[in-house]
Amino acid sequence: RAKAEGRGAYRLFEPRFERERLERRRTEAELVAALDKGELKLVFQPQVDVESERIVGFEALVRWDHPTRGRILPGAFIPVAEGSRLINRLDAYVLRQACEQAKELPGVTISVNMSPLNMRHAGMVDNIIATLRQTDFDPRRLEIEITESAILDASSEGQDALARLRGLGVRLALDDFGTGHASLVHVRRFPITKIKIDKSFILNLGVQRDAAAIVEYVVRLGRSLGITLTAEGVETREQLRFLRAFGAHQAQGYLFSPPLPLAAAAALLKRQAEAESQRALRGAGEHL
Ligand code: C2E
Ligand code: MG
Ligand code: MG
Ligand code: MG
Repeated sequence: RAKAEGRGAYRLFEPRFERERLERRRTEAELVAALDKGELKLVFQPQVDVESERIVGFEALVRWDHPTRGRILPGAFIPVAEGSRLINRLDAYVLRQACEQAKELPGVTISVNMSPLNMRHAGMVDNIIATLRQTDFDPRRLEIEITESAILDASSEGQDALARLRGLGVRLALDDFGTGHASLVHVRRFPITKIKIDKSFILNLGVQRDAAAIVEYVVRLGRSLGITLTAEGVETREQLRFLRAFGAHQAQGYLFSPPLPLAAAAALLKRQAEAESQRALRGAGEHL
């Protein structure tokens, strides 16, 4: 009986698995072509200083403008790319594009996401160094975002890789903090310069007491370790008030801006610079 059921279940599910497998293979093949055809685009989301709300950086996020399926978000293709070595190529492509395009975004940091799988890729750091040289991009303006699993999986080579990057002046951010199993103890063993508190905690600020307690604790401990604290997914003024009260440094989210095409991000930064120089001029005038 059990055997019969098992076989039945097998027959029932097998076509679906087969379909999903084929779908992944198709997406994979299309993604290879997309990389060659330049269908992958970057958008830039501002990161602001919590006190002044000034833009201090942008996170580069990848988008796939598919000719028939339209714009595809990374959630639908990054996991596919991670299933093969394609993710190494994809992240290298995004890094190069970001370093080139960031010339339009002067004076601020540019953050680029790195899949944890890249940490096991021996040439990763050499590739980053080569890209920085070839694009003539200041390493101190580059921030690499890695997730908790990347530091938990990190072999001693991975640890060395991060130290080498840090040695060049590249900043290292721990993304989606709180969703994995890393603790601040792990953080201390790596040259992490920023913690990005995951948006699931920010969403519940003012809703769940636990969320506020966790965010406050992470901010306080992170600050005492000399690490920059950023909140992601900030959507409301109330969430921002909590972050100010706790002493978080930076915030990112729809409250300030969604991810923007390069031209719009550059325009926003330009408007900020103009507003500031006018304010400085007015300030100087008052002292005449
Ligand atoms: P992430 O690095 O944590 O990026 C933040 C995600 O939150 C982005 O989604 C962003 O659009 C979204 N977001 C920003 N503000 C808000 C907000 O106020 N509320 C909410 N609910 N969401 C907000 P996106 O662009 O779909 O990216 C999803 C994930 O895909 C990223 O999460 C990152 O892990 C990955 N990813 C994106 N670009 C790349 C890339 O070039 N390479 C790699 N390896 N991964 C990437
Ligand atoms: Mg990120
Ligand atoms: Mg994140
Ligand atoms: Mg996230």
